[in-house]
Amino acid sequence: MAAQLIDGKVLAQQVRDRLAQESAELLAKKGIVPGLATILVGDDPASHVYVKNKQKACEMAGIYVDDHKLPASTSQAELLALIEKKNADPKIHGILVQLPLPKHIDSKVILEAVSPLKDADGFHPYNFGRLVEGHPVFEACTPKGVIKMIESSGVSIEGKRAVVVGRSNIVGKPLALMLLQRNATVTICHSKTKDLPAVCREADLLLVAIGKAKFVTADMVREGAVVIDVGTNKTPEGKLCGDVDFESVRQKAGWISPVPGGVGPMTIAMLLENTVESAKRAAGLK
Ligand code: NDP
Repeated sequence: MAAQLIDGKVLAQQVRDRLAQESAELLAKKGIVPGLATILVGDDPASHVYVKNKQKACEMAGIYVDDHKLPASTSQAELLALIEKKNADPKIHGILVQLPLPKHIDSKVILEAVSPLKDADGFHPYNFGRLVEGHPVFEACTPKGVIKMIESSGVSIEGKRAVVVGRSNIVGKPLALMLLQRNATVTICHSKTKDLPAVCREADLLLVAIGKAKFVTADMVREGAVVIDVGTNKTPEGKLCGDVDFESVRQKAGWISPVPGGVGPMTIAMLLENTVESAKRAAGLK
């Protein structure tokens, strides 16, 4: 039987509707509008599209957007000065610095300059460290969205064998920690993992974030597993596709998320959620 679909678009819309309600309540009770500063440096067309989509979603959820588009020639010092200003601005509860930054700017320095209390993307080492300890404040948006997608299937995470393929600081590692925090038994795989198909076949929960089109095939999947595909790749025809070979794997898995319409929309929804939660903390409501 074909797997049930975990529809990221539908789930994300539910989150966004709830956040719109929460923003309205925050305004009514405390006179506070959640605010997100978006900072984009340079003219990478894909980054412009991503930021525009995030801004549109913010506006629909009652989040004020403080938009900063800077030329590619912006110096690191100028960018740091802007971040300092936003760190100190009480109207701003989240700061998004769109990556990648131009080569002459050190992303690590920039991301560490964002106040950990306004780190809506959850990339600051302080928040990463809190996650390692098991006491997260801001959680990185993509892995946070993946957790919500697993939970939406009704399959409990506790006690399950989870295999995370990919170990980046923004997806694989934080996702593995979030699963561990929820009492899964977690294996992290990467490009040096031996016999990856055999490891993947042990997974009740198979989470894939490697950036290789249709890499995970049905023979790597346990019957009935929950499969979440984080990958975003282009097919030779220019279509968007994931790291999982959706058509073959859906015949074997119990639940599966598509690309597009899976993790992508949930990542944006989690950015909004982090911003609204931050505004609530600032208002003393959390
Ligand atoms: P990175 O390139 O930073 O990391 C890729 C990881 O995959 C690395 O840990 C690498 O291993 C591992 N890997 C690569 N090839 C293999 C292989 N053959 N077998 C096993 N492991 C392998 O990628 P990101 O984590 O940033 O992104 C992963 C994918 O997710 C990309 O397609 C990206 O576009 C997508 N993405 C989607 C988002 C969304 O919102 N939908 C958000 C973020 C990312 P090693 O460490 O050994 O090199």
